[in-house]
Amino acid sequence: MDAAEFRTAAHSAIEEIIAYYDSLPEKRVLATVSPGYLAPLLPTSAPQEPESWKVIQPDIEKYILPGLTHWQSPNFMAFFPACATYPSMLGEMYSAAFTAPAFNWLCSPAFTELETIVLDWLARMMGLPECFESKGEGGGVIQGSASEAVVVAMVAARERALSNLTEGYEGEVKEDQMDALRGKLVALGSEQAHSSTQKGAQIAGTKHVSIKTSAVNHFAMTGRDLRRSLDDITARGRIPYYLTVTLGTTATCAVDNFAEIVEVLKDYPQIWVHVDAAYAGAALICPEYQHHAKSFDRFDSFAMNMHKWLLVNFDANCMFIRRRRDLTSALSITRSYLSNDFSDRGLVTDYRDWQIPLGRRFRALKIWFVMRTYGVLGMQAHIRKGVELGKLFASLVETRKDLFRIVEGPSFGLVVFTVVGKREFEVRTSQTNGPHSGVNGGMRPSTTAEIESYGTQNAYSNDFTPDAAQQMLLDANAVTKEVYTR
Ligand code: PLP
Repeated sequence: MDAAEFRTAAHSAIEEIIAYYDSLPEKRVLATVSPGYLAPLLPTSAPQEPESWKVIQPDIEKYILPGLTHWQSPNFMAFFPACATYPSMLGEMYSAAFTAPAFNWLCSPAFTELETIVLDWLARMMGLPECFESKGEGGGVIQGSASEAVVVAMVAARERALSNLTEGYEGEVKEDQMDALRGKLVALGSEQAHSSTQKGAQIAGTKHVSIKTSAVNHFAMTGRDLRRSLDDITARGRIPYYLTVTLGTTATCAVDNFAEIVEVLKDYPQIWVHVDAAYAGAALICPEYQHHAKSFDRFDSFAMNMHKWLLVNFDANCMFIRRRRDLTSALSITRSYLSNDFSDRGLVTDYRDWQIPLGRRFRALKIWFVMRTYGVLGMQAHIRKGVELGKLFASLVETRKDLFRIVEGPSFGLVVFTVVGKREFEVRTSQTNGPHSGVNGGMRPSTTAEIESYGTQNAYSNDFTPDAAQQMLLDANAVTKEVYTR
């Protein structure tokens, strides 16, 4: 494809993308295809002869669109929002055009420097303690996902713990000590923490313990339950080294009791605390939520996904670290081909030492474009609208006590409610995604599949069938229609 062909093809692709977004409100959200639908429709091997864009482009509509679930539809209510906006798409375009796997500063200085700048902007927008900004010992980095941020934090925590525990030892003796201790290390998170904490412990090769939560405390981790777990772990001769605390749990958007947790950790100062704010962290850009960040200066790392609720398309996990040295000393390995004068003299940031892969994309561009296009005020308005719609939805649910009972929320736009009746099951709604349609923020229960993933155990007992669930959802839809049409 030469420049002239690219111009024509790109214009045509952009027109198609705009038409796709315009038509989203009318599209059925879920794909209707069956597993394995695509292979019979496509050739069994890549084409031998070149094909023109004229031949390729129509296949998007023919073969790909039928297999899409439209996450950007204003009718998509499952899971969490996954925002994509036009300025963030433009950022992706330039990022693809400038492709340079900028693993260190020298590879392409603008990649690194813009990332540091926009993450400092974001830290200040969210009211994070200054220790997370690059001007001190901390700083921000863009990771691919909240799960990646957990793994990175956990590996840094493990190495810090092992290094502290083997202080004074050298060489092979130190290595043997570390090997012996590694198996005793325990990573913790509440039973409501995202599964990435358990997965992280598996990857880091340490044990994992879940801390109990209860409905009485709205599924938040409390200081008492944390202390009980820590005391139990240490009584067994094991070593707690890492803790995930959550601002906005996946199931109910619970917020762990940070103040109590800080008190307990005074007796366990060695533990690395990571704040997983994957979804709800976005709300911190509004001053009325910044009280949640008050205790964060005691914590070691914090991560949120702009690609959930903050208008940037996947992937854009923003991770902040209090002492960047903790990361770089765990993850930096410098071969001769990576050595350069700027890095060797400590003049620059090399983000390869803050992450798992070596190469990286220019993701800061899309964040920069979104921040400038919406402005802080526009981004705050977007968050507040989602929160208000959650409250409105909850108030409508409350008007039908014969049908529904709210279990949790509204919390950061999320409402979890039960359909009451012969059998109960839970329905969890999240705000819709797209800021494109003008009906941004309608809410309604999602699909039967959603009930399957979040439903209580009795949802499918005996006489409670998927059909019955579907019927209840239709009733629920009727109640929420009013919200949806606003
Ligand atoms: N943490 C929380 C609280 C989440 O809700 C989610 C996803 O919903 C994740 C982590 C995982 O996010 P990612 O897909 O970016 O790894």
